[in-house]
Amino acid sequence: MTLKKVKGTYDVLPEESFRWQALEAKIRELMEHYYYKEMRTPIFEYKEVFHRQSEQSDMVQKETYDFFDRANREITLRPEGTAGIIRSYVENKRHANPDLEKVYYIGPNFRYERPQKGRYRQFYQFGVEAIGAENPGLDAELIVLAYDLIKKIGLRGAKVRINTLGDTKSRAAYKNALIEHFKPHQDTLCADCQNRLINNPLRILDCKIDAKHNAVLSAPSTQTHLTPESKAYFKAVLDHLDVCNVHYEINNRLVRGLDYYGHTVFEVEADIEGFGAQNVLCGGGRYQHLVKELGGPDISGIGFAFGMERLLSALESEGIELGKEIVLDAYVIKMNDKHTILASKIVNDLRNRKLIANLDYQNKSFKAQLKEALRHQAKFLIILGDDEVNQKMVALKNTKTEQQENVLIDQVGKIIKERLE
Ligand code: AMP
Repeated sequence: MTLKKVKGTYDVLPEESFRWQALEAKIRELMEHYYYKEMRTPIFEYKEVFHRQSEQSDMVQKETYDFFDRANREITLRPEGTAGIIRSYVENKRHANPDLEKVYYIGPNFRYERPQKGRYRQFYQFGVEAIGAENPGLDAELIVLAYDLIKKIGLRGAKVRINTLGDTKSRAAYKNALIEHFKPHQDTLCADCQNRLINNPLRILDCKIDAKHNAVLSAPSTQTHLTPESKAYFKAVLDHLDVCNVHYEINNRLVRGLDYYGHTVFEVEADIEGFGAQNVLCGGGRYQHLVKELGGPDISGIGFAFGMERLLSALESEGIELGKEIVLDAYVIKMNDKHTILASKIVNDLRNRKLIANLDYQNKSFKAQLKEALRHQAKFLIILGDDEVNQKMVALKNTKTEQQENVLIDQVGKIIKERLE
C-alpha cells in the first residue's frame, strides 16, 4: 500500500523549492525596508485564542482543526496568523513598549475547507501586523506595502480593492440598516445567512451561496452610515495612497470574512485570465478590539495576509520566474573506485571555497557520472583518471567551451574559483 498525503495538502519537491525560497527572499528584503521584523508564533494555540464568543466566521466555526492533546488540553491548529500574534503581543506585554509593534510572519495555516485549485487544508501565508495605533497613514502603509510586493515581484494582473467599514458607531448603524433590509427576505436566505442575520449581517454580503440573491444585490452600501469622523479617516487613507501612487479601486461591497474588522478593509485580487475562482491573493483590514478581546488594552491594529500558493501560482500564470534552480559549479568524476577518498577531499576543498560541488555515491559508471554532471549543468568536470592521479594531477574540463587540461590536484579548487569570477 502506498501511503498518501492528507487530502488538501501538497508536497514541495526539491526541484520546486527554489521558487518558494525566491519569493520568501523578496518578501524578507521588502520587510527590511519597511522596518518590519519577523515574528514566529506556534502553529497551534489553546482553542480559546481562535474560538472566541465574538468570532462567528465560517473559518472559526466550521473549518478549524481542533483536538485534545494527551493531557486533555483543547488545542487548535492555527487557521490564520493574526490571533496568535496578538496572543503573544499581550502575553509578552509588548504594549508596554513605547514603539508601535510592526511584525511579519511566513508560515502554515490549517483550514478544513473544500480543497480545489488555490485552496488547501494546509496553506502558507505571508502576513503583516502593525499593532498599537489607529492612524490612516498606517492603514495606507500596509496597503502600499502589499502593492509594492506585487510590483517588486513583477505581477501585472493584480488589483487592489479597498473599502471602509467605519468606526464602531458607523458599523452599528450599518448593521441595523442591514438587519432591516434583510429581515423581509430572511426565509429565502441560505441557512448560514439566516444565522448571520442575527450575529453579523455584514457577512451576508460575503456569502458565496447568496451572492446573486436580489436582497444581497440591493443591500445598502457601507458608505450610507459612516460618521463624519469615519469618512474623514477613509479620505485620509486615500490621500496617503494617492501620494504613494498606489492604483486602487474603491469597492463599497467589500466587507471581508472575519468578524473583527473596522475602518479600512482591503484585498488584492489576481486579474489574470484563466486564473480560477480562488483569485484573492491578499486580504486585510483594521481590527479595533481584538487586542482587548485577547486580554490586552483596548488598542487597535491592522494587518493583512497573502496566500503564498496563490502568489506563486499568479507568478506562474504570468510566466515570471523569480529565482533560479541551483546548478553545479563542478562535479568530480571517478574513473576508478580507488579514488573515492581523493574525490571526497577535492569536493570538500571546493565546498570550503564556496563552490557548489557534488560527486557520486551510487557506484555509477563513468558514463552515468558524466550524464549526472551534465543533467545538473555542472560548469566544470574534474575527472580522476589513474595516469593523471599518479602525477598528482586531474583532468579539468569546462563543459561550455569543451576545453580540457590537466591541472595539479592541489590547484584545482583555486583554478575553478578564478575562472568563475
Ligand atoms: P484570509 O485569512 O481568509 O483573509 O485569507 C488571506 C489570504 O490567504 C487569501 O487571500 C488567500 O490568498 C489565502 N488563503 C486563505 N485560505 C486559503 C486556503 N484554504 N488555501 C490557500 N490559500 C488560502
